[in-house]
Amino acid sequence: MSDIRELYQEMILEHNKKPRNFQKLDKASRTAEGYNPLCGDRLTLYLKIENDVIKDIGFEGSGCAISKASASMMTVSVKGKTQAQTEALFEKFHQMLSGDQASVDLSEIGKLAVFSGVREYPARVKCATLAWHTLKAGLSGSSEMISTEKEENDSMS
Ligand code: ZN
Repeated sequence: MSDIRELYQEMILEHNKKPRNFQKLDKASRTAEGYNPLCGDRLTLYLKIENDVIKDIGFEGSGCAISKASASMMTVSVKGKTQAQTEALFEKFHQMLSGDQASVDLSEIGKLAVFSGVREYPARVKCATLAWHTLKAGLSGSSEMISTEKEENDSMS
């Protein structure tokens, strides 16, 4: 188990250092902003959606290693997926972090499993889910800034 932990830690640090899709999209069809006041994580998400599919995705922002790595890995995971597939993935991710982890088939979420240990640090769960909440807002077309401190109203919580 500790070997896996170490591997996970390394992947998070690597994505933090070299975030994927860390760029503004010139022709984004939607943008969304997210903020986690507890940690100070901020990000802006750019989406290019065609025929219900996330054709391209990019983000900019600053924050802790977990928030940045999570945003980076999220962009990799959802590129090319439909909105429904993306929402299903978010549900599994959220469940892994704050729900009944045993009911989540970790093989279904692929590399996102590196964040499974974050659930032991409740304050960090919001860092890991910030990008996903922001993505959800972007997909639904909401232009309101997403703050993790409104999560109580979120049916997914
Ligand atoms: Zn954070």
